[in-house]
Amino acid sequence: MAVLPVTRFAPSPTGWLHLGHAFSALFAYQSALAHGGRFLLRIEDIDFTRCRREFETDLLDDLTWLGLEWEWPVRRQAEHLQEYALVASSLQKRGLLYPCFCTRREILKEIESAGGAPHGSEGPLYPGLCRNLSEDERQSRIAAGQSFALRLDLAKAREVCGDKLEWVDLEQGTQKAQPELLGDVVLVRKDIGCSYHLAVVHDDALQGVTRVTRGMDLWEATHLHRLLQALLGLEVPDYHHHTLLTDSSGRRLAKRDNAETLRSLRQQGFSAAELKARLARWQAGSPE
Ligand code: GLU
Repeated sequence: MAVLPVTRFAPSPTGWLHLGHAFSALFAYQSALAHGGRFLLRIEDIDFTRCRREFETDLLDDLTWLGLEWEWPVRRQAEHLQEYALVASSLQKRGLLYPCFCTRREILKEIESAGGAPHGSEGPLYPGLCRNLSEDERQSRIAAGQSFALRLDLAKAREVCGDKLEWVDLEQGTQKAQPELLGDVVLVRKDIGCSYHLAVVHDDALQGVTRVTRGMDLWEATHLHRLLQALLGLEVPDYHHHTLLTDSSGRRLAKRDNAETLRSLRQQGFSAAELKARLARWQAGSPE
């Protein structure tokens, strides 16, 4: 018997939702509903430096206006920080994470003096300054109160999982996992004690999400997530990456650029049907 898909939309309340979010939310919703599956909403609000409760309230209004219905209660990641800390500590106990004391400036300086570093979707890859510090050095820096993040030791993770992991994108087929695209990523941030990658992989498995739909901007992240699933012994969902909405100059819509917000469209009296028609035109290749 075919398994009915469970999808989710997982916005971070760091700004008003824009057209790109509407597209992404509808994409996930239709992907579940078209096959009689289930649709979940998850609020990814671990970054207390950027998330605001008012954005969360507003995004619920936006999604309701769009005509989406989701299961309750909605999982709010900020309420589960303890869980993510336990996951991180299980990886740490297995020697798969190491403390990184570097500041952003030190990392950039190192990259500059090395004449550059390979780039991933999150910026230049970490050049490994703290990877080989001795245990004594680590302990004395921690004892001296230096703040640190925890990074994935990709080489060690590879020893555990090998290099034959795969994942499936529903449109692009089977992919060989290439977590090296992001390198030794931070899994526990200095400031928030957690990270998007860790929380999202844990939650998708915990909530029984079988189909992760997300924008192409997270393609590289998916490669890393597959590795984390293997390390943590989690079920592996299918993936469906969608293209990103761009403005008339071909630039990807982003919250920080004040891309047209759903809130302002609602306030101007646009209907959800008009918005959906506009997104459909965009998808068909004739925006506006
Ligand atoms: N919270 C993430 C974002 O707003 C998306 C989560 C995901 O699809 O993994 O970009």
